[in-house]
Amino acid sequence: MTKIEKTIGILGGGQLGMMLAEAAKNLGFKTNIYCPDHESPAFMYSTYQTIAKYSDKQSLLKFSESVDYITVEFENIPSDTINFISKTDKLFPPSDAIKISQDRLLEKNFCVDNEIATNRYINVVNISDLTDWNYDKKSVMKTRHLGYDGKGQRVINSIKEAEEAFHEFGKKPCIIEEFIDFNIEVSTISVRDTYGNTYTYPPAENTHKNHILDTSEVPASIDKKTENFLRDISTKMIKNLNYIGVLAIEFFILKDSTILVNEIAPRVHNSGHWTLDGSDISQFEQHIRAISRLEILTPKLIYKTKMLNLIGADINIWETKSNSKNEKIYIYGKTETKKGRKMGHVNFLEELK
Ligand code: AMP
Repeated sequence: MTKIEKTIGILGGGQLGMMLAEAAKNLGFKTNIYCPDHESPAFMYSTYQTIAKYSDKQSLLKFSESVDYITVEFENIPSDTINFISKTDKLFPPSDAIKISQDRLLEKNFCVDNEIATNRYINVVNISDLTDWNYDKKSVMKTRHLGYDGKGQRVINSIKEAEEAFHEFGKKPCIIEEFIDFNIEVSTISVRDTYGNTYTYPPAENTHKNHILDTSEVPASIDKKTENFLRDISTKMIKNLNYIGVLAIEFFILKDSTILVNEIAPRVHNSGHWTLDGSDISQFEQHIRAISRLEILTPKLIYKTKMLNLIGADINIWETKSNSKNEKIYIYGKTETKKGRKMGHVNFLEELK
C-alpha cells in the first residue's frame, strides 16, 4: 500500500520555520514554506517553496490548496492574509489567537477579561489619551503592533517624554504600561492538541541583552509552588484562547513573588529552543503534532539546559566549532550577518542531579 504523505504549509521562512520543517520531515510530512524572501533559511529543509508576497491572493490560494494543514512561524502576518487562509479551515493556531497576539492592547485585555494578572496599562490612540496616565513612576510606551526585541518601545518618566515617544512612533496606536522592577523573567512553552490534551514544559529563566533574548535556562531558579502556578496560568490561557499548537507566554516575577504576564506569542519560541536537546520531544515536534491533528506527547526533561543565542558576530566563534556531548550548536545559515540578528544558538547540557 502506498503511504499518503500529507503536506504542512508554513507561513514564514526564518529559523523557526526551518526547525518546524525539520520536525515535520522527521514525522513523515512534506512541507511547503511560503515566504517572500528568496534567501529564507527554512527553504533548506522544505519539500516545496512558495516565494510570494503575503498579500498575493492568487499565490495564497494555490498554496492553501496544495497543503493539508497550515501554520505560522511568526505572528505579524498581515490580518488580510490570516483572514484569507483561515477560510480554508486548515489554519492552526486559530486566527483569533493570532490576532490577539498581534496587538498588545488585545493581549492585555485578554488577560484582564480572564482574570490573569498583568501590569497596569492604558490604550493610547490620540495624543489627548496621554493625560489618562499617572507619570509618578517609571513607565514604558510600546507600539501596539509590530514591536519585537525592544523595537517600538521606550521607557518614559514624564508626559513630555510620552509625547516625544508617541511622535517618534509615528502617532501609531500604543499602550503605556508600568515599568516592572522584576526579579526574574521566565517563559512557558505550552501546547494543546485537537483532542483537548495540554502540556506545559518546565518554565525557562530568561536573560536579555539589548532587549534581545540572550539565554534561557531550564530548570529556572523558582520553587515548585511558582512553577505550578506558572503551569496553571499557562493552561488557563491556552484553553481560554481555544488554542491548538504551541503557545509561548512571557512572565515577570517580582521580588515579592507576584507573577505578571508580559506577552504571548502564538508560535514556537526562541526561549523553547532548549527543548531540542534538553527534552526528549521538542517544541517543534509538539507543534507539528498538534496542528496536524495528531496527539501531543508528554515529554521528559533529560538534561539541565542553558540555551545561548548567537547574535550578529557571535556566530564567527561558533560556526567553526563542532558539536560535543555537552554543546549542541545550531547555525541558521543566514546569508548576511547583521548586528542584532539571530544567527544561531547553542544548547549547553548538564546531567540532571
Ligand atoms: P517585550 O517585547 O514586551 O517582550 O519586551 C522585551 C523585553 O523588554 C522584556 O523581555 C523585558 O526584559 C523588557 N521589558 C518589556 N516591558 C517591560 C516592563 N514593563 N518593565 C520592565 N521591563 C520590560
